[in-house]
Amino acid sequence: MQDTAELTPEQAREKYREERAKRIRADGLDQYLHLEGDLAKFGQDPWAEGDGARDPMQTTVDAVIIGAGIGALQMAVNMRRVGLDRVMMIDKASDVGGTWYWNRYPGAQCDTESYVYLPFLEETGYVPTEKYAHQPEIYEHCRRVARHFDLYRDAVFQTQVEEAHWDDASGRWTISTDRGDTIQARYLVICPGRLQSPKLPGIKGIDRFQGRAWHTSRWAPEFAGEDLAKLAGKRVGIIGTGATGLQAVPKLAEVADQLYVFQRTPSAVWERNNRPTEDGWNTDTEPGWQKRRMWNFTAAAAGFPVPEEQGDLVDDGWTEIAGWFAKSQKDPEVTDLEIMGRMRTRVEEIVKDPKAAEALKPYYRYGCKRPTFHDGFLPAFNRPNVELVDTDGRGPDEITENAVVVDGQAYEIDCLVFATGFDLGMGFLYGTGLKIHGRDGQLLTDKWANGLRTLHGMYANNFPNCFYLGFTQTAFSVSYTHMALEQTEHAAHVIAEAERRGAFLEPTAEAEQAYVDTVRNAKTPAMRQAQWECTPSSGNNEGNPDDPNTLFAGAYLPGGNTFFQVLADWRAAGTFEGVTFTPVASRS
Ligand code: NDP
Repeated sequence: MQDTAELTPEQAREKYREERAKRIRADGLDQYLHLEGDLAKFGQDPWAEGDGARDPMQTTVDAVIIGAGIGALQMAVNMRRVGLDRVMMIDKASDVGGTWYWNRYPGAQCDTESYVYLPFLEETGYVPTEKYAHQPEIYEHCRRVARHFDLYRDAVFQTQVEEAHWDDASGRWTISTDRGDTIQARYLVICPGRLQSPKLPGIKGIDRFQGRAWHTSRWAPEFAGEDLAKLAGKRVGIIGTGATGLQAVPKLAEVADQLYVFQRTPSAVWERNNRPTEDGWNTDTEPGWQKRRMWNFTAAAAGFPVPEEQGDLVDDGWTEIAGWFAKSQKDPEVTDLEIMGRMRTRVEEIVKDPKAAEALKPYYRYGCKRPTFHDGFLPAFNRPNVELVDTDGRGPDEITENAVVVDGQAYEIDCLVFATGFDLGMGFLYGTGLKIHGRDGQLLTDKWANGLRTLHGMYANNFPNCFYLGFTQTAFSVSYTHMALEQTEHAAHVIAEAERRGAFLEPTAEAEQAYVDTVRNAKTPAMRQAQWECTPSSGNNEGNPDDPNTLFAGAYLPGGNTFFQVLADWRAAGTFEGVTFTPVASRS
């Protein structure tokens, strides 16, 4: 095999096309299984105490937030800051934390720097123990935030919101849940998170397996035991080598007698360099330091310049690679080829078995699949008890009572771990089952049937006092916490004005249309082409990126901080342009 660093752009293009073609499937998203029937057990909450049965509630609060993850916590805090007292987070989990409640697999770790990612470090006075904290610490921090801001007071767990109906006359939402609750609230925030509903691959025979099988996001002690003790002496298989799989592999490798890693597409894995928090890690200790660090990181991780006096504060793989792109004077395709060439060379340098090394090299453009960072994943393949079973883009052919079959060879196993990701489906509300009825009963899913329609990604005409957090028509930051912080501060600012006026708020149809046009027209033909050339992933609708409901279809493309500045300027103008406030008769 030719040294990949020396591929010409033409050769690379051809190779990338070949690799993409192997993975494009006619069934697209339908290749994955929903957790119904016998498979429902893969989605059960192993940490819930009891079934959560309780009497239904009839109550009135200031706001209901659907979800209790990092975005929801920030929303709740910012609502409290503008005077809303009763803020009720409702989550199907039995505690706060969202993705950090669910994802407790060994090695689970935040891959955005902790000092940027863990919210409210200044307010809580907490200092993360590592540059990239592990799940127990992040989960505990979410609980710390909830305690610190007294958010447990009104929180409701093991409960799913089913419907919400808006009423102009009372200026309220009526929210109903699967526990029979009826809750009145002036504000409704939808923050369902993306990484909660496991998905399983539609591999033939998946329901036949007789050993222990589980998904990484439901890693209960009953499966592997405390400290993975139950895996000692066992043959373990893991399917999936995305950001999750590669964090789990080194941990499994340490205990399993034999570990088979079933790979469909290699991840691009760059250095992590995690380390304990060192003295002097923070050179900026003035109030507001965390937000300044967030802005610095969001800029640097997208290749934008950072203030000279700050420099690159986080200085990690995200910012390093973005910097290479930004500083390169070459054609972006050539730069991309060089960067992916470095990833491939890194595999060769670390993995001793040439066949495994070749199979672990990613052949697609940077960012086609989520970039990953890990120092233990590639070295794990040098262990005698770890075998990479590459499936050349197809995935395993079959699962039997006691084995995973690839190319006619049965790999016998005792336990099978699915690191196969989450049911992201199509559209922001996909999989939530939520029926949000705005004015005149209009369903939000109908309004968005042909793609998102919002102002600033946060609210929509005909759906007063309702906000959305997450990957809507907002800009992308590598740090979800930063995205959500800016969104929630903005929402709270508008809410404060509505409260001051005793009114409900919504964007005008014109402002919404103008914003939708801004977002949709920003995509250049080159960007569209690049997306079409990408190997399939959950981010591009498994290789069909033009669907308007694809995960990132509606992003504000000029970038995170640019978008946050647009919001800040809008607030500073003080005119609330494009938003109407309608006095509520019963409150004036
Ligand atoms: P992904 O969807 O990213 O990866 C799923 C993996 O399963 C891929 O390797 C995929 O292969 C593989 N797979 C799916 N179907 C099959 C099949 N039939 N046969 C073999 N393999 C199959 O899920 P993850 O859980 O890894 O990550 C989800 C998201 O979670 C990430 O995008 C990231 O945002 C987040 N995350 C964040 C972390 C953090 O630290 N902040 C850590 C971990 C996850 P293929 O690539 O071919 O589709």
